[in-house]
Amino acid sequence: MKEWLKYWPKRLPSSLSVPKTTIVDNLEVSAKRYPDKVAVYYYGSAFTYETIFKEVNRLAAFLQKEWHMKKGDRVILYMQNSPSFLISYYGILQAGGVVVPVNPMNKEQEVAFYIEDSEAEIAIAGQELLGNIQGHLGQTTLKNILAASYGDFVSSPKYRKDLPDEAMLPSGDSQSNEGIHTWEDMRESKYELSPVFVNSEDLACLPYTSGTTGRPKGCMHTHYSIQANLAAAKDWMSMTPNSVSLASLPWFHVTGMQHSMNAPLFAGGAIVIMTRWNRETAVRLIEDYGCTNWINISTMVVDFLSHPEIEKKNLSSLQVIGGGGAPLPEAVGKKLQLLTEITYCEGYGLSETMSQTHFNPPDRPKLQCLGIPSFDVDVIMLDPSAGEEIPLGQQGEIAVSGPQVFKGYWRRPEETAESFIQKDGTAYFRTGDIGYMDPEGYFFMVDRKKRMINTAGFKVWPSEIESVLYQHEAVQQACVVGAPDPRTGEVVKAYVVLQKGYEPSEELAQNVIDWSRNQMAVYKTPKEIHFLEELPKTASGKILWRTLQDREWNRAREE
Ligand code: AMP
Repeated sequence: MKEWLKYWPKRLPSSLSVPKTTIVDNLEVSAKRYPDKVAVYYYGSAFTYETIFKEVNRLAAFLQKEWHMKKGDRVILYMQNSPSFLISYYGILQAGGVVVPVNPMNKEQEVAFYIEDSEAEIAIAGQELLGNIQGHLGQTTLKNILAASYGDFVSSPKYRKDLPDEAMLPSGDSQSNEGIHTWEDMRESKYELSPVFVNSEDLACLPYTSGTTGRPKGCMHTHYSIQANLAAAKDWMSMTPNSVSLASLPWFHVTGMQHSMNAPLFAGGAIVIMTRWNRETAVRLIEDYGCTNWINISTMVVDFLSHPEIEKKNLSSLQVIGGGGAPLPEAVGKKLQLLTEITYCEGYGLSETMSQTHFNPPDRPKLQCLGIPSFDVDVIMLDPSAGEEIPLGQQGEIAVSGPQVFKGYWRRPEETAESFIQKDGTAYFRTGDIGYMDPEGYFFMVDRKKRMINTAGFKVWPSEIESVLYQHEAVQQACVVGAPDPRTGEVVKAYVVLQKGYEPSEELAQNVIDWSRNQMAVYKTPKEIHFLEELPKTASGKILWRTLQDREWNRAREE
C-alpha cells in the first residue's frame, strides 16, 4: 500500500479507469450523446455540441488540406478564451497535431521563442494579437497564421460591452495577405477531413514552463496523461451533463484548460466563457446561466468578494468553487464560505502534471492546503539538499509519480533526466516545491526550492527577466526576486547595480520599468527597482538571490 494511503483508507479505490482514447473522442462522444445541448455560452450566444464539433472538423480539414498539416505537427495557439480557442484546440488535435498554448500576454520576442523552440509552422492567433506574430512569418519556422476574431461569436448587445474593444475587431479587418488567413476564409472552405489514426500515447499538448530552472521548456503531454488528469478532475469537481462551468481562468494554462474547458466537455456539461476577468460580468454570468462550477485563482475570489452588492446577488446555483496554481489565503476562503456556504476546494499541480496531483476532497476540504494525492498519484518527500527520501511528515521537496506526469521536456533530455528521481523502480517528478504532510494525510506547501515567482498564479522565472534587464544600457547587474504582495501573493522586484556613469534616481527606476514593459508580458515586468552598490554574492561570485528575497519577506513580516 502506498505510504500516504493509510491516511485515506476509505477513499479506495485509489485508482480511476483512464480511457485509452483521445481527448477529441471525449468531445465526439458528448456531441453524439447530446447533439442539441448547449456546449458553450459566449456573452449571450449559445453553441450546441453538434455545432462545435462540426466547426472542429471543418478547421481540422482546413489545416490538413490548405496547409498540409501532418500528424505530430506543432501548432501555436495564441489567443484569449473564446469559442475560437476551443474550436482551434480540438481542431488541431483532430488533425493529429500538437497544441502549443501561448499566453496571450506574451510580446513579440517571447512569441518568437515558442515558435522556434517548438518548430511550429502554423499558428492560430487572436486577431488583436496579430501584430505580435505576423512579423515572424518567414523569419522563423512559421509559414501560416489563422487569425480569429472573438466578436463574431457574440450576438447579444447586452453582453457586447463586456468584451474588450480589441477583441471585438470583426474578422474582415485583417487582410488575407500572404501567409495569413481569416477565420471567415477557413469557414468558407469546403474540405473533407481525412481520418488520422491517433493513439492515446501520441503527443497532444506542449504547455511551456521553466520547470525548476532556465528558459521555458515544453512539457510533453500525451492524450493519455491529459485523460488521466481529466478523469480525476471530472470526479473531483462532481462534473455531470448538468454542470455549468464558469471559465474565467485563461485556457492557455493547464488549470483553466483542464478544469474549465476539457473536463466540462468530457462530462457533456456547458461552459460559460469569459474572455477577460471582470467581476461584474462574472456575477452576472453566474446569475444568468446558473453556473454550478467555478474554478479560479485567489485574486479573482478577492475581487469577487469585494463586489459592492455581492450579498444581494443570487449565487445559489454555485456548487463547487475551487482552484489551484497559487494558494488561496485562509481568511479569503472563510469569507467565501460565509457568503456561499461553499468551502473552497484548493488543488495543487504543475504544467508537468497537466494540472492537479493533489486536491481537497470536497466533503472534507481544508483551507490554504494542497489537499490529498489525486487518484493513482504516489508522493514521496525528499531532503531538499541531499535528495534522499525522508518521512512524509517532515518538510521536504514534494516528488510525485502517476499517469498524469509528463513524458519529459520537449527536446531537452538532460533537463528531463534531472527533474526525475528513481525510487524502487518508479520515476518520481521533483516538483521543486517544499511541503509536508499533516497527521491526517493532507499536504501543505511552505516554500519553493526552485527560483520562481508566483504572481496571482502567473509564473515568472527571474533568470528570464534578468537576461532582458541586462540589455538595458544602465544595468550592470540584476537580481530579480519575488516580494510579498497582499493582492497577488508576490510581485516582481529587481535589484540592480548600475553601470558606471549612471546615478540611482526614481526617474531611472521608472525608465527601466517602462522599458521592460515593452520587452515582456506585463505580469513579468518588475514593479519595483531597487538600486544597490553591489549584489550579495558567494565566494565563487554566485549571486545570493535568496538573501535578497528573504530581506523582502522579513521586511513585510516586520511591517
Ligand atoms: P505551473 O506550472 O504554472 O502550473 O506552476 C506550478 C507551480 O504553481 C507549482 O510548482 C507551485 O509552486 C505553484 N502552485 C500550484 N498550486 C498551488 C497551490 N495550491 N498553492 C501554492 N502554490 C501552488
